[in-house]
Amino acid sequence: MKSISPHRLREHQFPQEHSCLCPDCSTAYRDHALGPGEIILCTCCGRRLKKYHDPHALQQSWALTTASCLFLFMANATPMMVFDVSGNTQSSFMITGVESLFAQGYWPLALLVFLSAIALPTVHLILLWYLLGGCSLKRAWPGLSSILSIVELFMPWNLIPVFAVGVMAAVLKLEQLGQIHWKSGALWIGFLALSSLMVTLSFDRSLLEQRIADIDARDTKSS
Ligand SMILES: [Zn+2]
Repeated sequence: MKSISPHRLREHQFPQEHSCLCPDCSTAYRDHALGPGEIILCTCCGRRLKKYHDPHALQQSWALTTASCLFLFMANATPMMVFDVSGNTQSSFMITGVESLFAQGYWPLALLVFLSAIALPTVHLILLWYLLGGCSLKRAWPGLSSILSIVELFMPWNLIPVFAVGVMAAVLKLEQLGQIHWKSGALWIGFLALSSLMVTLSFDRSLLEQRIADIDARDTKSS
């Protein structure tokens, strides 16, 4: 990665919109457009001030998040497996585990599973979809900045991949008791685990912050 030394300058030398301050040491530097692989580092403290961003990265993340929302819906709407013990069959949905934990009196655990595997990932994906949608389309949808903070807060609570591994482990145990027939829900959970992992990896706070700032600056200028 090629690093560009920022043009250090005194604050009064350039109009405010062309100069930026290093958040760590307040050295002023001239902001300019970067090419692929380039970054701007602060010459005083070494902090990364700006990085080149692929202009299509947001659209790709948005498409990935849209797919994840769809997978999440399908994972909840279709049965994961059918469990067969000596002729008695039972279909399992994602919510079935929560219900049976609750019925057996383990309600704190039921609540934890419900929040970490169903409720929080759903809220997280919907908010992320809204945020990426606004940023990709360069629309000043209300609350983008606050949603960015909320989404970041929820990031560690997206436990879908952990849930998928947990299901696999539980199934291996259950197979000693009866027969398991996989259903399409399991496939959707697999897709969801993979896509939400990719969404987490592609999340780039600085890119989103920059885009929100660009949208705000454009709207301030035009109004
Ligand atoms: Zn600095």
